[in-house]
Amino acid sequence: MKKRIFSGMRPTGRLHIGNYLGALKNWVQLQDEFDCIYCVVDIHALTSVEDTSNLSTLTHEMVLDIMAAGIDPEKSILFIQSRVPEVAELNTFLGMITPLSWLLRVPTFKEKVKLQPHNVNYGLVGYPVLMAADILLYRAEVVPVGQDQMPHLELTREIVRRFNAQFGPTFPEPEGRLTNFPVVLGLDGGKMSKQTGNMIELAISEEETARKIMGAVTDPSRRYRSDPGNPDICNVYRLHGYFNTAEVDEIGQRCRRAAIGCVDCKKKLAEMLNKELAPMRLRRRELEARPEYAKQVLKEGAEKARVLASNTMSEVRDRIGLI
Ligand code: SF4
Repeated sequence: MKKRIFSGMRPTGRLHIGNYLGALKNWVQLQDEFDCIYCVVDIHALTSVEDTSNLSTLTHEMVLDIMAAGIDPEKSILFIQSRVPEVAELNTFLGMITPLSWLLRVPTFKEKVKLQPHNVNYGLVGYPVLMAADILLYRAEVVPVGQDQMPHLELTREIVRRFNAQFGPTFPEPEGRLTNFPVVLGLDGGKMSKQTGNMIELAISEEETARKIMGAVTDPSRRYRSDPGNPDICNVYRLHGYFNTAEVDEIGQRCRRAAIGCVDCKKKLAEMLNKELAPMRLRRRELEARPEYAKQVLKEGAEKARVLASNTMSEVRDRIGLI
């Protein structure tokens, strides 16, 4: 029996190469080792997205990116969070046993308060409870997490211990599978993020990818082609480390002795990045040409997820004593 893994992504913007390196590539690899449940967590997005007019489009686009990257519906369950309403019910029950003090101390809550002081909503503080509901509804045993998400998972484990102690053994305590999520910097040198727009989206064309890379910041002290560069502070060089592993060392050496110019260096990166993304972009075009297929995958994914969810909820209601 394979262990079950759960992971979700919030549809707050188009997926970019940072998401690809940090999560999607990992999701694809985990499919052979685990019984995988992958979810586009659109309810979570509501904690920070105020204008929802674009939410269904972003959700749809994210599904296409995920499938194009190689998530195989024959191996994994892929669905939209809100299509399984049992998650809201479990969220409510778990909320009744989670002390507010646990939630107020979560570092990401404090960060979010700073980021959106005008919109500190109830869902924002309860975010880790909804996350726990996502994981526990499917009795996932493993959750891929970056170091910064460990406090969330530890909170899920605390909720499990409390629930099991109060109502009897019901949920497994999920383990974190620590994943090395590389911090991929954006084209302006800041963190690549959907919010800032400094990113290279997976679904853009080869030409657009090359155009964006040509505009990326490099070593700011290298003003002329004849100046030696410092690859250690250059984001283009860092990206060569992910997408051009065979040549990255040589490029670093050539940069230091001014044997390569930034234009040629960026052209090479664009070529290598486009090469890596080419199969994904081809699959995406095929998926776009068959819109009914993705809808069918999501429908079947939600049906399979609901079978698991409804079994869990029957037991949960029984344990709690609800008639
Ligand atoms: Fe960066 Fe490449 Fe220019 Fe060196 S040659 S500064 S690594 S872009």
